[in-house]
Amino acid sequence: MNNDLKKSLVWFRRDLRLYDNAALFHALERSESVFCCFIFDVNILNNLKNKKDRRVEFIWESIRCLKEHLNTLGSDIFVEYGDPKNLIPKLVENLNCDALFINKDYEGYAIDRDNEVASKLLSQNKALFKYKDQVLFEEKEILTANGNPYTVFSPYRNNVLKKITFEGIQQFDCEKNRNRLAKIAQKKLISLEEMGFQQTNLRSLKIEFGTMGANKLLEDFKHRIHHYKDKRDFPATKGVSYLSVHNRFGTVSIRHLARLAIDQQSHGASAWLNELIWRDFYFQILANFPHINEGKSFKQQFDQVKYENDADFFDAWKNAKTGFPIIDSAMLQLNQTGFMHNRLRMVVASFLVKDLLIDWRWGEAYFAEKLIDYDFSANNGGWQWAASTGCDAQPWFRIFNPILQSEKFDSEGKFIKKYIPNLSSLNAKQIHAPWVPFEKDPINFGVHLGKEYPFPIINHKEQRDKALKMYDLKHVV
Ligand SMILES: Cc1cc2nc3c(=O)[nH]c(=O)nc-3n(C[C@H](O)[C@H](O)[C@H](O)COP(=O)(O)OP(=O)(O)OC[C@H]3O[C@@H](n4cnc5c(N)ncnc54)[C@H](O)[C@@H]3O)c2cc1C
Repeated sequence: MNNDLKKSLVWFRRDLRLYDNAALFHALERSESVFCCFIFDVNILNNLKNKKDRRVEFIWESIRCLKEHLNTLGSDIFVEYGDPKNLIPKLVENLNCDALFINKDYEGYAIDRDNEVASKLLSQNKALFKYKDQVLFEEKEILTANGNPYTVFSPYRNNVLKKITFEGIQQFDCEKNRNRLAKIAQKKLISLEEMGFQQTNLRSLKIEFGTMGANKLLEDFKHRIHHYKDKRDFPATKGVSYLSVHNRFGTVSIRHLARLAIDQQSHGASAWLNELIWRDFYFQILANFPHINEGKSFKQQFDQVKYENDADFFDAWKNAKTGFPIIDSAMLQLNQTGFMHNRLRMVVASFLVKDLLIDWRWGEAYFAEKLIDYDFSANNGGWQWAASTGCDAQPWFRIFNPILQSEKFDSEGKFIKKYIPNLSSLNAKQIHAPWVPFEKDPINFGVHLGKEYPFPIINHKEQRDKALKMYDLKHVV
């Protein structure tokens, strides 16, 4: 079908790019004139307590980039602040559009919102077209031989790998009909302050926005991708892509990333593709097992676990005061930058649940507040993996030893020292459990524990035993 609609509106959400964008491509294919819009959604923004939110700034900056690009093409984007359930149908009406084009969003709130918009459009006699865009394979596209959704990653991945070369990664050429973008006068962009938000430290962190920002990271990563498998677990090493925030807001196309990984053909590239597939895996878990949206464990029998939930321990964890350098440095990375290395996410999550004996949902909520790349499905998946309540999770009796994790993945203590300079005089033997050498010779130890850095708030061995009892699932599993 070509050009069968006069005017259409594309509503950008978590797909903030003009290339390889399914909804934009189809709107351009089918319409004489295409308008673009983005809504800063008060239903989401009003729930953000901290008005210096890195995500809001990242979105705002990426919209600014998108707008600048559209302006060079003689077009623009309508950016509004309010409730999209009212604003979108109104915009469709006011612009006299025949149809709305969107890319699907799989989270609970978004599904309800889109359903409400859909029913309003129906009553206005307007069409709605929805596309898969943020994942390679969605919902029920990858099923077991019995037609059920997968709950274990490896067979899911194997099935994806069989299909991926044929489907799922085609590029949507949005350039072809770009001249159909509506020619409109430039509009002033609402500021962060007008929405009650403030600038954060994103610029000093040198985080780059929009598709240009994603492309820079990708160019840099292309040269490192072959080493990904060997280097991805070491937080002091530049081993990962750092693209998660771009994946979250769609400033890069997931199909573009998958094509790149497939074309590269190395162990590193395959390991990276594996992670992209984990991302899809958790999206399909969310779509097929919606009980996880309601705060429930994937394996619901684990909802019987009685966590101790000590509020002081939780504060110490959040504020990087546990006395375990690897945990505290990781939490400082999160608090100061909004990012945390994947290995460390696993270590701090395990520590919260299996050392501090705190409900994984508390940690999940804290990450949701702080992570710049926060995505419900990956975050919930990661937490439930660490807490052993998830679909393809760490067995409940496997408990990370934070000291061994530290020795293995930050052996020289480089990462720790970056975030806890007070420990910079310690050597590679001392830094992972500084209380051990301190207790032997407090006078001559380089750091005054209890003053310059806390004593450990727990004893790992004792807490491990308690965790095993807490998870004593003989009666549960
Ligand atoms: C407790 C916990 C919470 C997490 N919360 C989130 C979250 O809110 N948002 C988020 O995007 N990721 C989350 N992850 C997954 C992972 O830690 C991040 O995606 C990764 O650290 C981002 O860094 P990167 O872009 O350099 O990743 P790379 O290693 O370069 O991987 C490439 C891309 O694959 C995806 N990816 C990588 N690992 C995973 C994974 N385990 N699960 C799902 N997708 C993955 C990301 O989109 C990432 O950008 C979480 C993991 C854990 C253990």
